[in-house]
Amino acid sequence: MTSPSSAPLRDTFGRQVTYLRLSVTDRCDLRCTYCMAEAMTFLPRKDLLTLEELEFVAKAFIRRGVRKIRITGGEPLVRKDILHLFGRLGETLGQGLEELTLTTNATQLTQHADDLARAGVRRINVSLDTLDRNRFQEIARRDQLDQVLEGIRAAKAAGLKVKINTVALKYQNADELADIIAWSHKDGHDISLIEVMPLGETGEDRFDQYIPLDLVQRQLETRWTLEPEEKRDPLAGPSRYFRIQETGGRVGFITPLTNNFCAGCNRVRVTCTGRIYMCLGQNNHIDLRTPLRESADPEKALDAALDAALFAKPERHDFSIRTPGQSPALSRHMSVTGG
Ligand code: SAM
Ligand code: SF4
Repeated sequence: MTSPSSAPLRDTFGRQVTYLRLSVTDRCDLRCTYCMAEAMTFLPRKDLLTLEELEFVAKAFIRRGVRKIRITGGEPLVRKDILHLFGRLGETLGQGLEELTLTTNATQLTQHADDLARAGVRRINVSLDTLDRNRFQEIARRDQLDQVLEGIRAAKAAGLKVKINTVALKYQNADELADIIAWSHKDGHDISLIEVMPLGETGEDRFDQYIPLDLVQRQLETRWTLEPEEKRDPLAGPSRYFRIQETGGRVGFITPLTNNFCAGCNRVRVTCTGRIYMCLGQNNHIDLRTPLRESADPEKALDAALDAALFAKPERHDFSIRTPGQSPALSRHMSVTGG
């Protein structure tokens, strides 16, 4: 057997991949209207990578220069024994891996916050689209706002730095965004606003959900002074951050539709079935599960698959939401690729 590669993961556009988003399940206990349909068919469990396989894949990426891993889904905390994976990956922090993090809807965070902190997680993203119980029930199709807020409190008490992610929705929360920002800053959290992306059928028309964030920004500027921030963290995502003078907190804008940010893309996504998607907005992918399960030398086979994936990483996505009734750009839901 040859020794595994430690060559950096560089694509044909000269971008180096240092950030892996690893989805551990396509399942979720919520049904956010922009993300999923009410009736979803989830993957059979046998198709999912085991926790050991997920660890093996993650460690191959770390060897190849990945410094940040975000565990995502679906809802990662609904996967049984997921804290075991956090524990194993946490042991590699400081040995190549610089950050282990999580995106969660926080419904089960109260139970897991202390264990996440113990595993070495320092910062997490929590999705929260409204502070109003009725609206939460409309947007997430479940009555769980109290659990989410309790989860955020538990994370804070465990010493985790929470960043709030809020999808801007034309009719469901656009009028509440300033209040959500004010609440976040008062509670000590940064917040990013996200434009709805046309991923998967959800039973809703995304034209009725999408609101461009330049419009939202102009509305916020009638209330506050927003000062643009220099990008300090090279591992940070595509948010453009502003400091709000009056609240002292930061607000980020993630604008895949109005402002394409692909030139600086440093990430790839691996699904819970072991598919690597080189771009959230494109369909091409490479299967890592077959080499992993069927090769006599899985490390070598995985390295070859990663090289092939990087070679095929596209330059950019091509999202648009221009007309009512438009079909999604991709049939794949965000919960499958890993948000
Ligand atoms: N369940 C976890 C959560 O909600 O945080 C993690 C997975 S979720 C797919 C990750 C992020 O993707 C969330 O912030 C969610 O709001 C966002 N998201 C899901 N579908 C989206 C869409 N169609 N457009 C934009 N953001 C979306
Ligand atoms: Fe679940 Fe997250 Fe999708 Fe909402 S956005 S349905 S919480 S996976």
